[in-house]
Amino acid sequence: TDAYLAAMEKARVLNAYIVETPEQARAMAKASDAKLAAGQRGALEGIPLGIKDLFATQGVHTQACSHVLHDFKPQYESTVTTNLWRDGAVMLGKLNMDEFAMGSSNETSYYGNVINPWKRKDSNAALVPGGSSGGSAAAVAAHICAAATATDTGGSIRQPAAFTGTVGIKPTYGRCSRWGIVAFASSLDQAGPIARDVRDAAIMLKSMASVDPKDTTSVDMPVPDYEAAIGRPIKGLRVGIPKEYRVDGMPAEIDALWQKGAEWLKAQGAEIVEISLPHTKYALPAYYIVAPAEASSNLARYDGVRYGLRVPGDDIVDMYENSRAAGFGREVQRRILIGTYVLSAGYYDAYYVRAQKVRTLIKQDFDRAWDKVDVVLTPATPSPAFAPGEITDPVQMYLNDIFTVTVNMAGLPGISVPAGLSADGLPLGLQLIGKPFGEETLFQAAA
Ligand code: GLN
Repeated sequence: TDAYLAAMEKARVLNAYIVETPEQARAMAKASDAKLAAGQRGALEGIPLGIKDLFATQGVHTQACSHVLHDFKPQYESTVTTNLWRDGAVMLGKLNMDEFAMGSSNETSYYGNVINPWKRKDSNAALVPGGSSGGSAAAVAAHICAAATATDTGGSIRQPAAFTGTVGIKPTYGRCSRWGIVAFASSLDQAGPIARDVRDAAIMLKSMASVDPKDTTSVDMPVPDYEAAIGRPIKGLRVGIPKEYRVDGMPAEIDALWQKGAEWLKAQGAEIVEISLPHTKYALPAYYIVAPAEASSNLARYDGVRYGLRVPGDDIVDMYENSRAAGFGREVQRRILIGTYVLSAGYYDAYYVRAQKVRTLIKQDFDRAWDKVDVVLTPATPSPAFAPGEITDPVQMYLNDIFTVTVNMAGLPGISVPAGLSADGLPLGLQLIGKPFGEETLFQAAA
């Protein structure tokens, strides 16, 4: 813990932590020492972790990197972090992220962007770590936490993991409790870890996952020993290659990486099967209707009365308006506008209901694929990390999620693993998608 706290101080230029909690960290580490001395050892005893700012931590700032949650300190602890502390983990601080987890580059954070510890070869220019879990990914890559919590609504665990050469898994919807995680799009949000390798990710997920009476969408199924899956042979595993993921304009190096991944699995005895997921091209547009719709509803609670920022006004409506105008950043305001529009009378059927139908079709594509294959292999992202300010068009930014959103729309587990370097020396990731509650197979194949 002391070594990590010292490393965090030296790495402040990355802007990965927005709150450091050295007192808590030392107290928790001492408690772990006492447990170890008494012969007790939790699965994460004494392991120092970073926590994405989306997780409520009792008495410790939890602001979803939004100005609207200015100075908010919850009186309760999220279920996921409660599980981690139960197993002996130590909290180093709260990690930077895109505001309310809306973004793919960590540039929408009220606290400024995060710097990716990776640089292009022959260049010292700063790059983004991806998002929304940009602080989590950068901190793991920079060794300023042993592992981190993260969340994924459309790719926010897997895309930053790919941009930083780390491992990130979004488990099946319902595997982790969402209680105490600031809501973005409740039917898509899931927690998961970002870690340095597949084994660490397996150990983390085992601790994070649980059924929870406080989240009725959490699932009452035993949590397997994910670590035990690592090292199991994959001979005979059927790996699907979906032809619709070979999108127009995909860089040659991403395509080459994808083929290399298939060859690695084949060399281990897996069988490669061409499959079709015909509704793939509708996933991104449908996601950018469903996610903002749910967000506009979830974010209605930030009214200047109950949480965080309050900007006074002439009357209560004026106060609401002033607080929300000053508290929400541009991307969050854009999502609220889109979401409110697609839910409004006259547009609801044309947009929201239609997007929900598309969502069902995407899920059915996968249901059919599972008759033929055990996992699906795709690239994690269409490009390596880019520079801050490089992507200014929001639709261009949304294209970052092209390979990851289908997984959230269908509620499936997906893991991103580092698989090589781009021509300019940046990490690239491959994604494995699994059947519902097929995380063990993902860890097995990913390792
Ligand atoms: N980049 C996507 C978005 O902005 C996904 C974010 C996420 O998974 N939280 O909505």
